[in-house]
Amino acid sequence: MSRHLDIDVAIIGGGLVGSSAALALRGMGFSVALLDKGYCGAQASGVNYGGVRRQGRPPEQLPLSQRAHAVWPRLKALIGIDGEFLRSGHLKLARDEADMAALEAYRRSVAGLGLDLELIGHNGLRERFGWIGDNIVGASFCAGDGHANPRLVSTGFAAAARRAGVHVLENTAVQAIARNGPGFALEAGDDLRLSARQVINSAGAWAGAFAETFGEPVPLSRIYPSMVVTEPLDPVMTVNIGMEGGGIYARQVERGNCVVGGERGLPLDDPDFSRPRGEGALAIMNRTAELFPALRHAHAIRFWSGTEGAMPDRNPVIGPSLTTPGLIHAFGFTGAGFQIAPGVGEVLAELIRDGASTTPIEAFSIGRFSTSARTHPGSGAGQNAEPQHAGESRS
Ligand SMILES: Cc1cc2nc3c(=O)[nH]c(=O)nc-3n(C[C@H](O)[C@H](O)[C@H](O)COP(=O)(O)OP(=O)(O)OC[C@H]3O[C@@H](n4cnc5c(N)ncnc54)[C@H](O)[C@@H]3O)c2cc1C
Repeated sequence: MSRHLDIDVAIIGGGLVGSSAALALRGMGFSVALLDKGYCGAQASGVNYGGVRRQGRPPEQLPLSQRAHAVWPRLKALIGIDGEFLRSGHLKLARDEADMAALEAYRRSVAGLGLDLELIGHNGLRERFGWIGDNIVGASFCAGDGHANPRLVSTGFAAAARRAGVHVLENTAVQAIARNGPGFALEAGDDLRLSARQVINSAGAWAGAFAETFGEPVPLSRIYPSMVVTEPLDPVMTVNIGMEGGGIYARQVERGNCVVGGERGLPLDDPDFSRPRGEGALAIMNRTAELFPALRHAHAIRFWSGTEGAMPDRNPVIGPSLTTPGLIHAFGFTGAGFQIAPGVGEVLAELIRDGASTTPIEAFSIGRFSTSARTHPGSGAGQNAEPQHAGESRS
């Protein structure tokens, strides 16, 4: 016999995007089911680097990023834990004058958008951040950015949603979905049937199949950022570090471990899972030793990588389906969804309640990829584009 659930909103995918939307929707009084094929927060949202960074985002993401920026210091009140969020500042380094010019140009392009970027020359860096190698010519500092523990934050949102009354259904993959009258009929897990008036597609790297089901094929590929963590060390890094052009990012947690990324892993036979490449991990460690002399003899104690959905223009898809009323997409965060996810959750809840978002999201419309789908609504499956790996990681 199958179970049946009748709810206002079904959310496919319990990453940070789906979980934060679930919590916000429940706060508005909606009945919500949050479905995950595994455990909430076990994919990208729970295994990422933990960079809570606005600096470096394209200007069109900044209103959303600013909205999320206001949520991070309120985590304790919102989900009951602070998620080890630390407003340490984010320092983006320049290897040479061309990098420095790019940082200056970025600062001009986002002037007035609330980042308050400070450009720092070589001497200033030596004075304030003497633990950074001498070969760095300058940097851009965003004092309001920081970092947090993804394992705590993502599961924390799902747990808070459950406490608020959301049906959090783990190990319950959505197998099928179709329009059913004014709403949707979903089949999930072994025996669950759901009727939902609206649906959010926040299935991360797996979201393309759901978009395609409703005639909106998107060029969503998979990337596998890979991470290294050191043994606990004496306090060294006072800020979250990034590099203009990518290649390395690093932070130190309160226990002393340094978390470092900047390379890509490889998918396993089952492309839902991946592992770091040996050469990649070695490259990260060599860059670490060069950039941070105090870490030259640090032991790396763990390596991992995660599966992330990526769009060719590096912007996510956020907003209503253009073929199917009641369906809202939110996926394709391309290595940078952790910081903005709590803001995305609020926006998704507004879209469900009001049909519009108070934060501009037009740049993220699925329409920029699905022209043919809009011409032939419901025409069904096109093939996803060949997987392509977007640039280096810039977390
Ligand atoms: C190693 C790594 C480092 C990163 N570093 C940073 C960083 O420092 N800063 C930053 O801002 N971003 C970073 N990111 C990106 C960030 O983690 C992601 O953009 C963000 O977590 C995406 O959240 P999500 O909820 O969309 O996806 P996910 O967390 O992947 O969640 C999607 C969920 O959907 C579920 N799902 C899939 N199919 C189904 C189905 N059929 N039925 C039910 N559930 C389904 C999955 O099980 C999964 O739990 C990093 C990513 C990785 C992998």
